[in-house]
Amino acid sequence: MGLLTALDGGYGDRADAVVVDGTALSWEQLLGAAGAVAERAAGAPGLAVLARPTAETVAAVAGGLLAGVPVVPVPPDSGPVERAHILRDSGATLLAGTGLPDDAAELTALPVSLTDRPSGTWRPAAEDADRTAFVLYTSGTTGAPKGALIAHRAVAAGLDALAGAWQWDAEDTLVHGLPLFHVHGLVLGVLGALRTGSRLVHTGRPTPAGYAAARGSLYFGVPTVWSRIAADPAAARELAAARLLVSGSAPLPVPVFERLRELTGQAPAERYGMTETLITVATRADGERRPGAVGVPLPGVRTRLAGEDGRPVPADGESVGELQLQGPTLFDGYLGRPEATAASWTADGWFRTGDVAVIGPDGFHRIVGRASVDLIKSGGYRIGAGEVEAALRDHPGVADAAVVGAPDPDLGQAVVAYVVAADGGGAGAGGVGERELIDFVARRLSVHKRPRRVVLVEDLPRNAMGKVLKKQLLDGAG
Ligand code: ATP
Ligand code: MG
Repeated sequence: MGLLTALDGGYGDRADAVVVDGTALSWEQLLGAAGAVAERAAGAPGLAVLARPTAETVAAVAGGLLAGVPVVPVPPDSGPVERAHILRDSGATLLAGTGLPDDAAELTALPVSLTDRPSGTWRPAAEDADRTAFVLYTSGTTGAPKGALIAHRAVAAGLDALAGAWQWDAEDTLVHGLPLFHVHGLVLGVLGALRTGSRLVHTGRPTPAGYAAARGSLYFGVPTVWSRIAADPAAARELAAARLLVSGSAPLPVPVFERLRELTGQAPAERYGMTETLITVATRADGERRPGAVGVPLPGVRTRLAGEDGRPVPADGESVGELQLQGPTLFDGYLGRPEATAASWTADGWFRTGDVAVIGPDGFHRIVGRASVDLIKSGGYRIGAGEVEAALRDHPGVADAAVVGAPDPDLGQAVVAYVVAADGGGAGAGGVGERELIDFVARRLSVHKRPRRVVLVEDLPRNAMGKVLKKQLLDGAG
């Protein structure tokens, strides 16, 4: 079955091979429902899937892949405008799922039922590694979401490399509750299970109680999920028997890493990837789990650092540069955006991640942040937002912090910190005042890195993947 080796029958079968929000399917049942979708989708230019966290979504995605039709996952909670953008931009002609909206006028609805089966003559499309598996939209953290063209070969390469690095196989039960329209929850979190033959338990929503009850060997989460679990000792202790707790999609704060290690008896494994590159750098199951680091390149992936002038930056554990990549998991370009595609490659053929990183002589990668928002240029200095955020989080009165460079007539950019107080209160709560926090950072870091302004907020704005929307903070920073 191409990418979906679990559906070949080689791993045997079980009644609860795939469980999504309480609905259990065997692989044979999943293949039946997916085959019914595939038969109806055959030959379409694209199959959009309204990606609710349901078993029907898994069947629809598997159906599109079996039909050899590009699958376009659509965020279920996106409003009609965002949905219309993705549907129009992707060129999909079918919209699969349950409870389909009636505002997707130009698309033909393909309602999915788990009891549907294909006709006796249906066969999956012939395999073609170069075919587009997904048009996967980026998270829109730094601008409008872009549709990345992901080939079957890239998905297979990424999942096989990860399975090796994490010793992930049919003995495992993978647990997560992440959105099914994003690379993390869908490509790693669903196709990973269907390729390795591991059991999949999707908890519907990523709650500490759901994770605690699921009894998995392998858990995926974004940092906000891990931070909630770290704040819920009873739930966290239930994960002590797991083999591997993996964090990705955004930086895992070191205090959360430490607290999880304390409560579960094992340090989480961080990994790094993007929609455009799938997973490229990861902590190995048998390797060191280092706080603040995302691991080492997966087999077949090459990385390098480049300065703003494009010149090489050494992998000396200190120097920062843009992380650039080559390898088998890379996308085939942005759909309909030749300029954006061209701009994301260097003249000598390396993909520009737009992330700033440090590489150690031992190969460990640290992600400093995004070149466009996390690298602050203030009064002639270059300041990494993450370093200031980490310093702020060390203050007992601070629960969370995000740092941006706000336009400043004197400094070019001024370091501005948005801080959530530890007891959830507003200004002055827990004794955290602006002056106190500025002095606290100035005592720990070089003095030019101290915030010029601290704004106490109830919450940081985040998208569905738990990524802080710094553009939104900046728009308010003036
Ligand atoms: P857009 O490209 O639309 O602005 P986005 O970059 O957030 O959105 P994704 O492809 O979902 O969309 O996210 C990839 C980015 O997530 C990476 O470029 C990196 O900045 C960040 N990221 C992923 N994993 C990690 C990690 N472990 N640590 C720090 N950052 C991470
Ligand atoms: Mg991006």
